[in-house]
Amino acid sequence: MKLSGKVAIVTGGSRGIGKAIAKEFAVNGASVVISGREQKNLDESAKEIGAFAIQADIRKESEVQSLIEKTIEKFGRLDILVNNAGVFPKIKLLHEISDSEWRDVLDVNLNGPFYATKYSIPHLQKNGGAIINIASSAGIKAYENFNADAYSASKAALVLLTKCWALEYAKNKIRVNCICPGVVETDMTSEFLSTPATREMMNYAYPIGRFGTVDDVAKAALYFASEQDSPWATGAVLPLDGGESLK
Ligand code: NAD
Repeated sequence: MKLSGKVAIVTGGSRGIGKAIAKEFAVNGASVVISGREQKNLDESAKEIGAFAIQADIRKESEVQSLIEKTIEKFGRLDILVNNAGVFPKIKLLHEISDSEWRDVLDVNLNGPFYATKYSIPHLQKNGGAIINIASSAGIKAYENFNADAYSASKAALVLLTKCWALEYAKNKIRVNCICPGVVETDMTSEFLSTPATREMMNYAYPIGRFGTVDDVAKAALYFASEQDSPWATGAVLPLDGGESLK
């Protein structure tokens, strides 16, 4: 098993992409901690996929610090961090976005990964390890009528931070990589993908002929998490979008 003996944290792991990654890691032998805001949802998902649940709001530094400390208390080490928790704002033109709407997105999508990475690094430095940032194709390309600028800004920042952290911590054998998915069917996109017409339009938009699934992202995360599979990959930014970002 590729992650045998490894300990991983997946933020926002109770559903969607995070849950699929946590499941893939658990199946591959890792001890997996999933974190999120609601204990009940976390407990249900943890039971289903064989993970350990720790409640933590990613926007709150003290809760994130405690998430890392509790993981170390429970498992004694940390090898893999997946910065996955994220939110998508209401679609609005830039000049219509309020200050609080802007900050709400950056709090989760940018400050969250900062806190989780900050408190994980001292533990990852002990044995080396892997950080996987879940950004978005919106972090590498502008889309007409997308109108989610705080989201694009947060994901573009995560793309560059991937490179900064990769360069800084390569000496500690911490590999830092980033996945930029296109549209993946989850709760985040369910409203958008709710009509047959939109689904068909989206499938058509992707050169490979379909939009993404959570398992597409989980397989890519396993690649970056596995020292065996990707020992030389660090600072990589992987567009995972059926070729859409090439257009
Ligand atoms: P989702 O809404 O199903 O899941 C988001 C997760 O983040 C949930 O578990 C939620 O509880 C958690 N979360 C949100 N705010 C939080 C907070 N304050 N503290 C702790 N946890 C919090 O969405 P998803 O599609 O699974 O998204 C996962 C990641 O993938 C996000 O970072 C998202 O931006 C990114 N992404 C998604 C898509 C897509 O099309 N679904 C595309 C590109 C990137």
